[in-house]
Amino acid sequence: MTTTPLSPAEHLRGLCAGRVHLPGDPGYDAARTPWNLAVDQRPAAVAVPHSADEVADVVRAAAAAGLRVAPQSSGHGAGPFMRRDLGDTVLIRLHEITGVTVDAEARTARVLGGTLWQDVVTAAAPHGLTAMHGSAPDVAVAGYVLGGGLSFYGRRHGLATNSLRAVEVVTADGSLVRATADDHAELFWALRGGGGNFGVVVAVELDLLPYADVFAGMLLWDRERAPEVVPAWAAWTREVPESVTTSLRVMSFPPLPELPPFLSGRQIVVIDGAVLEDDDRAAELLAPLRALAPEMDTFARIPAAGLTAVHMDPPAPAPAVADHAVLAELPEEAVAAYLGEVGPGSTTSLLFAELRHLGGALARPAEGGGVASHLEGTYALFCVAIAPFPEAAAQGIADAAAMCAAMAPWTTGTHVLNFSDSPVDVASVYGDRYERLRAVRAAADPHGLFVAHHPVA
Ligand SMILES: Cc1cc2nc3c(=O)[nH]c(=O)nc-3n(C[C@H](O)[C@H](O)[C@H](O)COP(=O)(O)OP(=O)(O)OC[C@H]3O[C@@H](n4cnc5c(N)ncnc54)[C@H](O)[C@@H]3O)c2cc1C
Repeated sequence: MTTTPLSPAEHLRGLCAGRVHLPGDPGYDAARTPWNLAVDQRPAAVAVPHSADEVADVVRAAAAAGLRVAPQSSGHGAGPFMRRDLGDTVLIRLHEITGVTVDAEARTARVLGGTLWQDVVTAAAPHGLTAMHGSAPDVAVAGYVLGGGLSFYGRRHGLATNSLRAVEVVTADGSLVRATADDHAELFWALRGGGGNFGVVVAVELDLLPYADVFAGMLLWDRERAPEVVPAWAAWTREVPESVTTSLRVMSFPPLPELPPFLSGRQIVVIDGAVLEDDDRAAELLAPLRALAPEMDTFARIPAAGLTAVHMDPPAPAPAVADHAVLAELPEEAVAAYLGEVGPGSTTSLLFAELRHLGGALARPAEGGGVASHLEGTYALFCVAIAPFPEAAAQGIADAAAMCAAMAPWTTGTHVLNFSDSPVDVASVYGDRYERLRAVRAAADPHGLFVAHHPVA
């Protein structure tokens, strides 16, 4: 009688009280599906731990079985896994390890590894506090802060990763390490911008912001007005103070009954964001844009917890493809190139082509910061298409690449890790900081156990 040898992943069965799913198991497909439904990731196994101890068990067992480990919290950043073979990798999904504890006096929060931003914002709000979340409520804190973190508080308060005070991480040997400015300081430096290359983050401690409410909202015009609105916003962003962080998007929506009528089947241009000023000063700053008579204007003082809804990001998982670039400037010629791709008359497949205003505190190295304490560049360009089937993905990728190519004369050549949908050359992003990052990786993970969406080799 012959016996079939166990596959390496079979050695993980029974861990996490049975929440380890292998190909062919009934729970495998649900467990491996990321937020970005266009990414068909097929790991050797998916583990869904409920505690840091269970994470450590999986890490040790995977290493012993000769497998690698990819941490994932929500799967918003799964794009770089679209073409990666994960056949030798255990995906650890953190969505069952959630929770927020606010220390109102210290103005900090302890946030467990798979927690989403909306939960942090909701927990902070009763204390008149908020956090450096991004545009979407359901992005996870971990991946976002490890990749930098661009928020509508950014031009005043910098990258969200600078708000980290401590990171608790299960490292390659299965031990739990608390990295701070004083303990495991090199690891702490690397984690703040180096992504999931160093271990599985099971908790972070971060500074909160003292805002109970903010002046925020959006202005909306039909796309026909884009030739007036886009250059006006570009000129306006050259003048506004650091208290203002906004984004401009030309958006194209298919006719869908689930969309509100002001979006369904329409092409529009939208400016949204936050103005961290009192009402009078905010109105004064917004006046040049309001003078363009938007069809909708929702800018008003709102509870800070409402800022996660202003950008109208998709409320549920969606199939998406994207491309991205960082712009050094946005002169008239660049505005013309942008409008050439998505302006009136364009039949682009892009759901949106976004320009996020950078600069201000985002551009200044933070004292005691990590590898990504600031961002060089003035605008982040982020192009997204909905990709429910392969042809739509191919068209979306082509249109996003065409936009990036059209803007090439004004790009810096660097990238924002969080906005990069395919694996980024991290060395080119971090330049002379990369060798230090590699050294931390070699010390923390000498056998290259961890598989991050943007690898530090
Ligand atoms: C709709 C939408 C809106 C967005 N808005 C913004 C925005 O406003 N500002 C901004 O900066 N970014 C934004 N992003 C980008 C987002 O921040 C990145 O995709 C980020 O990687 C998401 O983190 P996640 O943990 O939710 O995603 P995941 O896909 O789960 O994680 C991405 C990567 O982060 C690492 N990682 C995640 N969790 C852990 C963990 N617990 N331990 C160790 N490593 C981990 C892993 O390497 C993983 O591959 C947006 C993305 C989408 C889709």
